[in-house]
Amino acid sequence: MRPDLLRMKEVALIYLDRSGGLQKFVDDCKRYNDSKQSYAVYRFIISINPSDIAELDAALGNQILHKPMKAAQIFQSVCFIAIKTLSLIEQLQTEAQINIVLKPTHLPPLPSYVLSLCEFPLDYMSQRFYMSEGIVIAMGTVTKYTQGARFLCSEETCPFSEGFNYIRVHIPGATESATVRNDFVCSLCASPLQEDMKFRVLGDKQLVEMIDAKALSAFQGYSNNKPHFRIQSFTVFLRDELSNKMKIGNRYRFIGIPACIQNCSQVTVCIEVNSIQLCSPEGTSGISENFKYLLSLTSSSCWRFTAILANIFASQVVPPGTYNTLKLSILLSLVQTCDRERETADYLDLLIVTSDTLIADSVCLVARGIRHPASNDIFPTVSKDKHGTGTASIQACSALLAKGGICFIGDLLSHKKDKLELLQSVLESRTTTVFIPGKKYGEDVDQQVILPIQTSFWTFVDEDLSSKTYVQKDNTLIGKLDLRSIAANLLDAFGLLIRCNELSCQRALPLLDHIMKKAIDPEEVPYTISQQFRTQDYEELIVFAKNLQVELSSEAERLIHGYYLASRRVRTDSIHGSKLSTSALKLLVSLSKAHTKLSLRKKVLEEDVLIAVLLFESSLTLKHGASVFCVAPNAVFPFDLIDENSLQQRDVYLMQCHQQLLQFIATYGPGTHVTTSEE
Ligand SMILES: [Zn+2]
Repeated sequence: MRPDLLRMKEVALIYLDRSGGLQKFVDDCKRYNDSKQSYAVYRFIISINPSDIAELDAALGNQILHKPMKAAQIFQSVCFIAIKTLSLIEQLQTEAQINIVLKPTHLPPLPSYVLSLCEFPLDYMSQRFYMSEGIVIAMGTVTKYTQGARFLCSEETCPFSEGFNYIRVHIPGATESATVRNDFVCSLCASPLQEDMKFRVLGDKQLVEMIDAKALSAFQGYSNNKPHFRIQSFTVFLRDELSNKMKIGNRYRFIGIPACIQNCSQVTVCIEVNSIQLCSPEGTSGISENFKYLLSLTSSSCWRFTAILANIFASQVVPPGTYNTLKLSILLSLVQTCDRERETADYLDLLIVTSDTLIADSVCLVARGIRHPASNDIFPTVSKDKHGTGTASIQACSALLAKGGICFIGDLLSHKKDKLELLQSVLESRTTTVFIPGKKYGEDVDQQVILPIQTSFWTFVDEDLSSKTYVQKDNTLIGKLDLRSIAANLLDAFGLLIRCNELSCQRALPLLDHIMKKAIDPEEVPYTISQQFRTQDYEELIVFAKNLQVELSSEAERLIHGYYLASRRVRTDSIHGSKLSTSALKLLVSLSKAHTKLSLRKKVLEEDVLIAVLLFESSLTLKHGASVFCVAPNAVFPFDLIDENSLQQRDVYLMQCHQQLLQFIATYGPGTHVTTSEE
């Protein structure tokens, strides 16, 4: 034996002993031995810390990182000797029956170990470990593959017609036909080899399609001036213990070995995954100096900071001061997104009634802001796996791609009726069910997969269009919008209904001016304010705000409950029952919390609740008409915010609203007797 090989085997044994790997190996052997069953191959997973092993012996460390198959052979040999010397598995006969899977705990943090799937050339030939990262966009069902098989010589007199000399083991990147097929010949007598089927060892396999996170930008609103794009996904293989370890829509960092798979005339690059780690959300970089200064300037009132935020938000799209209610709602929706795996996340879905569709398109300032392309499906679909296996593959589609963010689905009425019904059920349950017919995909039984939809939805309806198609009813309630083209249940499923009707003649001028300027020079920044508070600053602010942990003060909680109960009472009639569902309570809490976060505070105050109530009541008024608790058409922004004085004026107005709210609760809230329409 070559001295360096012998040395590496010694080091491998020392490493196993020191790292605790030997004990684990002995335990695994015991399980095989106790089962008394004879297998073609015995599979062992060995965890390797590359730095520890490189410190022991640089040559072995190098081998593991750059020639993992060869390194596995070294461990295979060491493990075989250990089994034989210590009589660990009685049934085991040859070294070939040992299948070693090396799992590095990490790779050196150097560029040469990173495989970026959007950079070329890709090294997929060297069969070594790389780190990579991607978002799961499609996922196949778990199927079987051949982990190992035993072959025998078909010539009875040949010594290899028995025993465990011809063992085929799956290696990374190998297709099924590479592991088992019928044209192998005996190396002794050249007779054909035959598989001993009763010894075939099967494992689990799952094919997952991923895209580089950078590819998401193609779905984001602000790049929609490039309508033609193609996204190249890549396939990763999850085998055995890794099956079902990824979830659709999530972003993962993983270590794996790239390989090239030939399927008919197509060659596909894929990665055999070795270990998986869920990517934690981006760290908070803090907020810009200008926002900090603004926060200190506005500290005298709980309403001013968010008012100014909304007022100047998206000034690259609309002039400052226009559509403030919508812009505030968008900001609240953005800070309620949650990119962590959390069961109890809040969502704020917006339905915008407008004749100007510019804005929602352009301000999806979260990493997962997906603009749904009209040609695609919103919700997950099932299709045949494109690798020719005939198995089912679930495609993420827009809603799952937007996991933890916003999915902007464009014009609500452009979607077909069945899709809208599905949307309604998703908004209500936050889950969708995918049905996989067994017959079609080569399975014995039908399968149903329930997928959580952790996304907030934004959509709009064109006000001109939706009202023109119908003749106005005579008995329209005050403030109620005529939205008969939308099913009432769907309308209710959206958290907030917002109408952009501020575009009176007085407002139309700056907007027109803005559009003209943009048309002449699209790159020009039209307002100095846009330079002080850039889109990037808003993005950072949102990341910072959404990660704040906020809690309700008892006064805030009382106010929410009081309003909810009073409002439920006054909005109940004998025919339809109450127009307020229990989800309204959750929404009010969520809106209040969102306003607190956007104000960069941690405790929800009555002031936050007031904004939530005004937004909510405005939305209710648009849906069902005004109630006793009558709010102004632009309840949150009744005046133009042009100077300090107008902010002061708004504060006074909001304080009056607060008093009205308390009065409303006192009159109709819990513990009071009222005459409702029922009585
Ligand atoms: Zn033979």
